[in-house]
Amino acid sequence: MQSFQYKKVDDIASALGASEIGNAKFVAGGTTLIDLMKLNVERPTTLIDINSLALDRIEKTSDGGLKIGAMVRNSDLAHDLDIQRQYPVLSQALLSGASPQLRNMATTGGNLLQRTRCYYFRDTAYPCNKRKPGSGCAAMDGYNRIHAILGTSEHCIATHPSDMAVAMVALEAAVHITGPKGERIVPIGEFHLLPGSTPNRENVLGPGELVTHVALPALQAGTRSCYLKRRDRASYEFALASAAIVAQLQGSRFRRIRVALGGVGTKPWRSPEAEQVLEGQEANERNFRAAAEAALHGAKPLHDNAFKVELAKRTLTRALKVLSQAA
Ligand code: SF4
Repeated sequence: MQSFQYKKVDDIASALGASEIGNAKFVAGGTTLIDLMKLNVERPTTLIDINSLALDRIEKTSDGGLKIGAMVRNSDLAHDLDIQRQYPVLSQALLSGASPQLRNMATTGGNLLQRTRCYYFRDTAYPCNKRKPGSGCAAMDGYNRIHAILGTSEHCIATHPSDMAVAMVALEAAVHITGPKGERIVPIGEFHLLPGSTPNRENVLGPGELVTHVALPALQAGTRSCYLKRRDRASYEFALASAAIVAQLQGSRFRRIRVALGGVGTKPWRSPEAEQVLEGQEANERNFRAAAEAALHGAKPLHDNAFKVELAKRTLTRALKVLSQAA
């Protein structure tokens, strides 16, 4: 591990000021960053500890939604009563991720920014365009069982690892950002970037910018939601495929539906194709399967991850069935 400076800040202005020092990085729970520093994948010269920032609240908004501070711990968010009542998909996604100890440390902002679990990204002995632009991609011809089948490029096929962000995409959350040029709000669907030819750029944050909170819009009464995750073991494991659904039903028909997939995309993957198949249609097995086929239509599997295509289809089909049968 490379040696680094450590600076603790108490307010946002100090955090933004400190971020101008060399290769500085914000650290909160540290559940991704510290691991990667030990592996020499991340090599910041300064760590800015933002754990004291007053961004640790979940507050109701005037329009009936919720505002989640970037420093709210994943455990606190998952067990918040308003989240459990109004946005169960988010609580389910959070509780399906990591371990209780990690969730106690990990923050909302950090979860959004967590980095891929691609084995080659985490091992500096291998070429990796995400870690070192232009060096190549060891996963392309290597072992790629956990890698993405949607949104890939010839430069990177790494999966986005977050469960929380998948639920937030289905909820159409908005990410609030502050930085040297002021404040801005980015719809979560536009926050993460596809790898394209610059897989080292994973989101829209510019130099010195900081996520301050995530806003969830109010949901109409009667909205249902669910998160379903498939993985190699029952806990403490990343998704091979997951589905987040937020929907309103009128009788037995979907009136409005939002679908997002995890474990298969290079970013938390919204599927307008599946939504289009289902909106206004009967909630039945035939339509669930048609939506799953549409969602995976553009999938590009490689030699070790072709199983994900059918797994993702079955995960989405099952999630739609669970949601439509919920009281
Ligand atoms: Fe690196 Fe992406 Fe290739 Fe993994 S898939 S080795 S993260 S470039």
